[in-house]
Amino acid sequence: MTYRESRGLPSQAAAAQPGPAQPAAPGDEAPPGAPGTGETVCRTCGGTGRTPGGQADCPDCGGTGKVTAGIGGG
Ligand SMILES: [Zn+2]
Repeated sequence: MTYRESRGLPSQAAAAQPGPAQPAAPGDEAPPGAPGTGETVCRTCGGTGRTPGGQADCPDCGGTGKVTAGIGGG
């Protein structure tokens, strides 16, 4: 009567990502602290941190209204 548990949890599997730093938000173009990058207003929500409907956090910046993107020379 042993049932393997490998079939449970359809999602949230192998969510570990290698690397010392990960972007703080999906809309980030670069990891925080990366050379030549800086915080800028999220273009998706225009810095409001909300979706166009204004009922949920912006998926790109996570509701902060800011994302990390390349600045300068670009
Ligand atoms: Zn946003």
